[in-house]
Amino acid sequence: MNLTVELTTDQIIDFVQQMPPGEKREVLLALAEQAETSRAERMAYAEAQFRKLCASRGLNWDTMTEAERENFVDDLIHRETTIDHTSNSVVVALKNYQNHHYKDDRSELPREIGDEVYTNPFAFLIGASFDRGMDWKQAWEIPYQIKLRGKLDPAILASMTEEELSLLLESLPRKPRYGTERGAKTLKDAASLVHDQFGGDAAAIWRDVSPIEVKKRLQNIYDVAQGIASMVVRILHDDWGMFKGQEHEIDIKADVHVKRVFQRTGLTHSKAEEEAISAARRLNPKFPGELDWPAWKIGKDWCFPTKPQCNSCPLTAVCGKHIK
Ligand code: SF4
Repeated sequence: MNLTVELTTDQIIDFVQQMPPGEKREVLLALAEQAETSRAERMAYAEAQFRKLCASRGLNWDTMTEAERENFVDDLIHRETTIDHTSNSVVVALKNYQNHHYKDDRSELPREIGDEVYTNPFAFLIGASFDRGMDWKQAWEIPYQIKLRGKLDPAILASMTEEELSLLLESLPRKPRYGTERGAKTLKDAASLVHDQFGGDAAAIWRDVSPIEVKKRLQNIYDVAQGIASMVVRILHDDWGMFKGQEHEIDIKADVHVKRVFQRTGLTHSKAEEEAISAARRLNPKFPGELDWPAWKIGKDWCFPTKPQCNSCPLTAVCGKHIK
């Protein structure tokens, strides 16, 4: 017969203390051995990580002397502390720039185009869907031009074939960056999403739902990926006052300007999109997307791919100037 006896921690300690000295010693030695094994495992894991880091910097951990290893670890700690310190200063400077200079897109667009995209949610959705790889003002003009042709209506556009939509886009003075055939798919999907799933009301896509859900819905549109979806959510927050209290779900749109500024200032090591998004989440967790507009604006107006204007740049005092 098997009996199970449940003991409290205090009872176990009492029990061990009452054991004869020889048996007590055996128990204590067994416990100490186990603790030593866990410690050895942790040390082996740490050493494996250092080995990998060394290899990524062209060094060999196994052939280094103790002094070289100590120097390597010291440098690493110093470097990470410096990066964090610099990053925090850059984040503060970006937020400061946002607070003092932010302007909504409406104020920078020709009046009739700005009025259209800021009063008609469907026009806003179409303009945003085309805002990739081309001058943003030209992208936001597309819905206005469609309106001038009497077709800016989800029911009308959803009922047209892709060939007809492609011809419509061909007739515009501003064409989508990636061609009218791809543009027709984007237009068809956007109109069908609004017409078929939201009763013709584009604003219903983002009404009373979380930023994450809005991004998921928008990515059902052809060629609308994470970046555009994040931009839409960020604009809805900044310019339309939506998603209050849910800012932690709003990411940056890591476009070429944002990625370049992040890398040159030292917020990231590379110009990879995922690294920029993660850096914004890590460095400004309450509202990662807050870093989007100021980094984009600085990238567009000062931090040019060649000949960046560091002397007059608002980030010059805090920027690492990692210009390659
Ligand atoms: S322009 Fe110069 S100072 Fe400004 S973000 Fe770019 S590299 Fe930094």
